[in-house]
Amino acid sequence: MASTVYFTDLHVNAPQNLLGKMGKLAQQAGLEKIDCNGKFVAVKIHFGEPGNLAYIRHNYANRMVEILQEMGGKVFLTDSSTLYSGQRSNAIDHLRSAFENGFNMLSVKAPVIIADGLKGTDYKEIVIDLEQCKTAKIGAAVANADVIVSMNHFKGHEQAGFGGALKNIGMGTASRGGKLDMHSTSQPIVDEKCCTSCRQCEINCNYGAIALNSHRKAVIDRNKCVGCGQCIAMCRFDAVLPVWDSSSELLNKKIAEYTYAALKDKPHFHISFITNVSPDCDCWASNDIPIVPDIGMAASLDPVALDQACADLVTAAPSLPGSRGNEKGKINLIGKDKFHYVHPNTDWSVGLQHAEKIGLGTRDYKLVTI
Ligand code: SF4
Ligand code: SF4
Repeated sequence: MASTVYFTDLHVNAPQNLLGKMGKLAQQAGLEKIDCNGKFVAVKIHFGEPGNLAYIRHNYANRMVEILQEMGGKVFLTDSSTLYSGQRSNAIDHLRSAFENGFNMLSVKAPVIIADGLKGTDYKEIVIDLEQCKTAKIGAAVANADVIVSMNHFKGHEQAGFGGALKNIGMGTASRGGKLDMHSTSQPIVDEKCCTSCRQCEINCNYGAIALNSHRKAVIDRNKCVGCGQCIAMCRFDAVLPVWDSSSELLNKKIAEYTYAALKDKPHFHISFITNVSPDCDCWASNDIPIVPDIGMAASLDPVALDQACADLVTAAPSLPGSRGNEKGKINLIGKDKFHYVHPNTDWSVGLQHAEKIGLGTRDYKLVTI
């Protein structure tokens, strides 16, 4: 059976404004049917790497918080820390970045809680027993929440093809070890030049798989290492590194399975902003010009249908001349997959097909414009 995806464009007639349109869209798409009364409601959003300006404005997050609080929810904003180094790789830096980008108590009337804790190691292992992942390591704050609301910036992604609802939830709620599971099919490596012999990796490895050698450099015992990623989290010197060796197809399948885990047994709601559709992820400290004009906002109770609908809307749109979707301004990409054009080694459709197969949702949707 087809799922319904609700859509609104960005036209307004004063005194109406876009915040009001977002609220109306969310209610029509079924948010009001979710029982939030007295429940812990996690609003999953990407706070944006400082320097990137394409992420969703905090004003939208605040309006969503107000709606959920009116529904009786104990609401918090959340994201998990990154696998790579940057300004969101632990809770302190991540909170600082979120506050700098406007997600603070002056602008949004709800606290920010980093889902996987201080060093990216606070998670719950959720049993899913699916094709790629038997379990998923989901940040504890999300795993412990009663309701998940995902606010997704829909844009390109250099490994997944695009980032939408599934990427925001599957990758975005995973702990560091979970992110390593998705990005890599192998164990971490040690860059000896950066190793300062601090032993934090050795002390924190639960498997006795990493230790200093006679040159006082960390070495991983490949027979003992289970690839949990704890040592990456513990090393403050970027001496332990993930191996980015998962194909786009495999990555997208794992993201679908992690999304399944994060949403398992919880009411959930999804809203995507098809605006500032930058070619790359908001994890970069910059954003290139959008590949299509701003399209609008879409929402659904079905994250798979929502991602498919957003992808179809971008496919149907003209590419912006001068953008990486059409650098010379001469190619007619209307009706063509612009994400695949920008990132030819990716295939997002594999992830949505897999999501459908595991019962996360359906790619068959009815688009209702309000
Ligand atoms: S935590 Fe990093 S710097 Fe410290 S011993 Fe391990 S690899 Fe070396
Ligand atoms: S990935 Fe996990 S098991 Fe392997 S060395 Fe690092 S902490 Fe130990």
